[in-house]
Amino acid sequence: MIAMKNTQNKKLTDELTDKLMNEIKSIVGVLLMAVVTGLAQPTEAFTLTGTFEAAWPDPEVKFVVNTANCPASIDVVSLLQEAAKLWNNVPTSKIKVSYGGATTSTTDSSPPTVYCATNFGAVTGADQGSTIGVGRGSPSVLNGPITSGLLILNASAGAGNISNQPPEALKLIMAHEIGHVLGLGHSQDPTALMWYTASGKMNAALSQDDVDGISYLYPRNEIGGDKIMGCGLVGAVAGGWTGGRGGGSEPPTGSALALALFLLLPLLIAIHSRRRNNLYETLGLRLSNRRR
Ligand SMILES: [Zn+2]
Repeated sequence: MIAMKNTQNKKLTDELTDKLMNEIKSIVGVLLMAVVTGLAQPTEAFTLTGTFEAAWPDPEVKFVVNTANCPASIDVVSLLQEAAKLWNNVPTSKIKVSYGGATTSTTDSSPPTVYCATNFGAVTGADQGSTIGVGRGSPSVLNGPITSGLLILNASAGAGNISNQPPEALKLIMAHEIGHVLGLGHSQDPTALMWYTASGKMNAALSQDDVDGISYLYPRNEIGGDKIMGCGLVGAVAGGWTGGRGGGSEPPTGSALALALFLLLPLLIAIHSRRRNNLYETLGLRLSNRRR
C-alpha cells in the first residue's frame, strides 16, 4: 500500500515535472529565438528626409507623370508601377504607391509629380553625367507632414540619361527616388536600396533596412490596437524607438532577455540533472523530444 502510494506520488510528481518542463521549454525557446534574433539584427541605418518624422498623411500616394520630355524608349508609367511594387509589398507597412494619371506639371505638387528634365543638371544641381534621378517629399511647415513631392528623371544628353541605363538599374533608381518622395533619406547600410549610390547593385530589391524605414514612416495599423500586425511587430523588427506610434508596447531589449535566460539557467540545469537529459534537449534546441 505504501509502495503503491509512493509509486502514485512519483507518477504525479513526474507528470508535474513534465508539465513544468514543457512550460519552461517553450519559454526558453522563445527567449532564445528573441536573443538570437536581437543579436543577428544590426540597429537600423535608415534616415529620414528631415530631422523629424515627415510622411504623407495618406499612405495611398498616387504619383502623376509628365512624359513630355521622356525618351521614347522608356515607359515611365510602367517604370513607376514596377518600382512601386517594391514598397507596396512590405507587409509591415501600409504604404500604397500607384500611378495617379497624367500631368503637365514640373513642380513640387500634391499628388507628387514625376517628369523628365532635358536640363537635368541645371534644375537639380546634380552632375547630369552620373546622376539618373532625384526625388524629394517636402513639408509645407516645419515638423509638418509631407504636402508635396517631386521626382525628376534625367533626360539630358550624356551617360546619365535614363535611356542609357539597364532596365533593372533604372527600376532600382526609380524605387530609390520614390523612397525619397515618401520621406526616407539615405541609409547608412550599403545593402539598402536607400544607400546613396546604385553602383554595384545588380537587382532592384529592398533590404531589411528599407523595410524598417518604410514601416517606421507608414506602420501597418490593424484595427484593435495593433494586435495583429501593428506597432509591436514593427518595433520588434526595427527596435529602439520610443512609443507613441500606434500604442504598441516596446519589445523587451536583448540584454533583458539575456538576463532572463541567465536567471533561468540554474533552474534548468537542476532539472536537467534530475532527469539526466541532454542540456541541449532541455533548452529546446533539438527537434526530437525523447521521453522515457
Ligand atoms: Zn538618394
